Formats: sequence, structure tokens, C-alpha cells
Amino acid sequence: MQVWKFGGTSVGKPERMHAIKNLIIEDGNRKIVVLSALSGTTNALISIGESLKTNNDAEAVEKINTLYAHYEEFIKELYATPEGLAKGKTIIENEFSFIRSLVNIKPFSLKQEKEIVAEGELLSTQMFEAFLQEKGVKSALLPALDFMLIDADNEPVLKFTEEKLGAILSQLSDRQIFITQGFICRNPRGEVDNLKRGGSDYTATLIGGAIVAEEVQIWTDIDGMHNNDPRIVKKTFPIRELTFEEAAELAYFGAKILHPSTITPAKMKGVPVRLKNTMEPSAFGTLIADKTSDREIKAIAAKDNLTAIYIHSTRMLNAYGFLRRVFEIFEKYKTPVDMITTSEVSVSVTIDNDEHLDSIMAELRQFADLEDVDKDQTIVCIVGNFSADKEGIALKVLEAMKNIPIRMICYGASEHNITLLIHGKNKAAALNALNERCFLYEDTMKDIFSAP
Ligand code: ADP
Ligand code: ASP
Ligand code: MG
Repeated sequence: MQVWKFGGTSVGKPERMHAIKNLIIEDGNRKIVVLSALSGTTNALISIGESLKTNNDAEAVEKINTLYAHYEEFIKELYATPEGLAKGKTIIENEFSFIRSLVNIKPFSLKQEKEIVAEGELLSTQMFEAFLQEKGVKSALLPALDFMLIDADNEPVLKFTEEKLGAILSQLSDRQIFITQGFICRNPRGEVDNLKRGGSDYTATLIGGAIVAEEVQIWTDIDGMHNNDPRIVKKTFPIRELTFEEAAELAYFGAKILHPSTITPAKMKGVPVRLKNTMEPSAFGTLIADKTSDREIKAIAAKDNLTAIYIHSTRMLNAYGFLRRVFEIFEKYKTPVDMITTSEVSVSVTIDNDEHLDSIMAELRQFADLEDVDKDQTIVCIVGNFSADKEGIALKVLEAMKNIPIRMICYGASEHNITLLIHGKNKAAALNALNERCFLYEDTMKDIFSAP
């Protein structure tokens, strides 16, 4: 069994849904198809939620009407028969009457906010399933809310998915194609929740891990993981192969093509992940598995909006236990630390969630001097094969950065990652300079970027 995930743009137009129907039945493999919401829908639903939260009910109703009109037009082109269209109409009527019912709930809480954003995936999957029925495809719709669960720390409970999904699938052994919602899940209170923005990728690998799929394919609007952010850098190239570790670093440190946690379940269960382009299905894309090419620098990604905290204490000199005390505070406030550098008497860390920054700083101040807190920092992550006996890699990186101030550098924590911390305003310059120096400067692209 395979798991195929289609993102927002891949289902965002009726003709795209027509095209993905052909893609999923053509190869004859049994598969679970995970769908995102139509592109733009999740943003629209969040915006409706914001209007309701601030008691701008008339504004919310207007936004709901606009979104509804979009779906009314969409189904006219999606279905070919009056029966199909009637089915589509019933689906959107049901979901929009639920959305409208939320306008009357006061106060509009986080619970309702989560319910409203879940509507995007509930709509797209039901509409697509009805389209498959219209075309006579033997498929089944699997409600993700019955088998996707997060715990009190917002971590997915893979065991639950293994058991529940296993039981559901064993009842449906005559079906070839299963459709389910990406992104959405339940929380320990039984409420509707989600895996955070872009979470459908994560759903796909969680399902892939739970059923130990033969492969997970993530279909999007680009031909695989590129060597640099194509939204910022002009000359970027798809990478044919990455290891789980390399892909995990790139996803975590900002390559938007994958939700930051996507690779974790795949790596844990050894399930290969293939990135494919819906608009160009014959392109090779990227295969993420155990093996990789030997190329030194493979790709670069960047993660924004970090806060750097510079902690100084003469008590750190020759002392043990100082770092433990520092990190216990971050643990207490459930705030992950992304990057760390140390000197004899100081340590700098970065965090991407500054919700508890004031409390963290107050506690740190009890035993250390806080010299500085810098906001709007960006981590630039350079990924590749940097085994300790290779020379000259850091030189290339630093040469590229010669005109850009660097706040922190990490090298040597693993054999496949160098990270730099810079001010956010210098991100575009840094990514372009690194692209020039590490990829375009030498003609060494052939080994990973050319066709087989
Ligand atoms: P989907 O809606 O299918 O989940 P996303 O918009 O989340 O698609 O991800 C695909 C986009 O990720 C691409 O269109 C591209 O602009 C962006 N992106 C950012 N960094 C990279 C990268 N290193 N390689 C490929 N795409 C990237
Ligand atoms: N629809 C959700 C979002 O826009 C999840 C996803 O597309 O992966 O974030
Ligand atoms: Mg995405």
C-alpha cells in the first residue's frame, strides 16, 4: 500500500481534481490519498475565525458568503452529471451551514477556531470522493478524525493511528483507493484539532508510518526539493536524492515544501518519501530514503522569526551544572531551543516561540546576566555530507557570507548540517550569495541534479 498526499494547489481547481483522479488510478496500486484543503481555503477560514473572535459578525458573514460562492462555482465544473452536482451541492450546503452556525456561538473560543479551520479538508475530501463515485471508482472515504490523535503536548499518537486505521482498513479489503483528510485530528479532550499549518504532509507520513507503507508520495506544485528557496533565489534545481536526516533538517529549518515534522515518522519506520510535481508527473522529483550521493553541499533552507538570547555568567567558568540550569528553564516553559553556541562564560540560544520569553528571562536573570535579546533573526541551514575529514566546506560558506554579519555559527553537531544565525533583513542576500558560491560557482551540479 502507498500513501499519496496532494496539497492545496494540486486540488485547487476542478481540472486539477480531474487530473489527480487519473494519476491515482493509472498505476493500479492500492493507496490512501491524503488531501489538503483547496488552495486559499485555510487562509479564508482562519480569517473568518479572526472576524468572529473580534465580534465582527457582519464581516465574518460576508467572508463566508464569498467562500461559499467560490465552492458553488467549483462544483459546477467538477461534476459532469446532475446527480454528481446534486451530491456536491449537498456537501457544500452541509459544511457551510455548520460554518454559519458558528457565527452564533459566543464567546468564539479556540475550540470553534479549530473546528472552522478543519472545514477546508472536510470539504475537499468529500467533494473529491463524490467525484470518484461519479466516475465509478471503487473508493472509500476514511474520516481522519476517527484515527488521527494528538496528545497533551500536541504530539501525534502513532500507536492510536496504527490500531484504529488498521481496524478500519481490515473492514474494507475490497477497496483500492481510500481518501482522507490531511491536517486535522482530535486532541485528548476529543475536540477537533490540527497538526499546524502545512500539516497534511505530516498526516501522510504518520499514516505511512502507521501502516508501514511501501512509499509516501507528496504531490505539490514543484518538481521536488530544490537546493535553495525558489521563492527567493532565481537559479535553483531539484535534488534527486536526500537521506532522511538531510530532508529532516531542511524541512525543520524552513524548506516550505515539507511541514517541519514530516520526515520523523517516515524515518522511524523506514518508509521512503518521494516528492512529486502534480503539474509535471513525469519529472523525477526527489526521493528521500537511506541512501544519498556523496556531494558535499546539497541544499540550503532558512527559518525566520527567531529570537536569540545571549546569556552571560562568570559563574559558568569552570563550573558544571550551569547549562543544565539554563535548559531546565526552557524545558519548564516547553520552549524548544533551535541553535546553541557557547564560549567560556556565555551561551547563546535561539527560540522560535517567544510566548514565554518574559518568564524565561526573569528566571534566567536569577543566576545569569542577560546581555542581549535579538528578535527577527533567521537561521540559514546548509545541508550536505560534511564528514569530519573533508576540508574547505566552512571556507566556501564563510566566503559567501563575507559581506553579511553573522550572529552565530554551528558546525560539527552532525555530519550533515552547518547553521548560521543572521538578521532577518539579510536573508535574501545570504541565500543568494550562498547559492552563487556553493552551487553556481563550480560546475559540480551534474552528480545530483542531472537526469539518470
Ligand atoms: P502544498 O500546498 O502542495 O503543500 P506548499 O506551498 O506547502 O505546497 O509547498 C510547495 C512550495 O514550497 C513551492 O511552491 C515552493 O515555492 C516552496 N519551497 C520553499 N522552499 C523550497 C525548496 N527548497 N524546494 C522546493 N520548494 C520549496
Ligand atoms: N490546509 C492546511 C494549511 O493550509 C494544511 C495543508 O495544506 O497542509 O495549512
Ligand atoms: Mg504544504
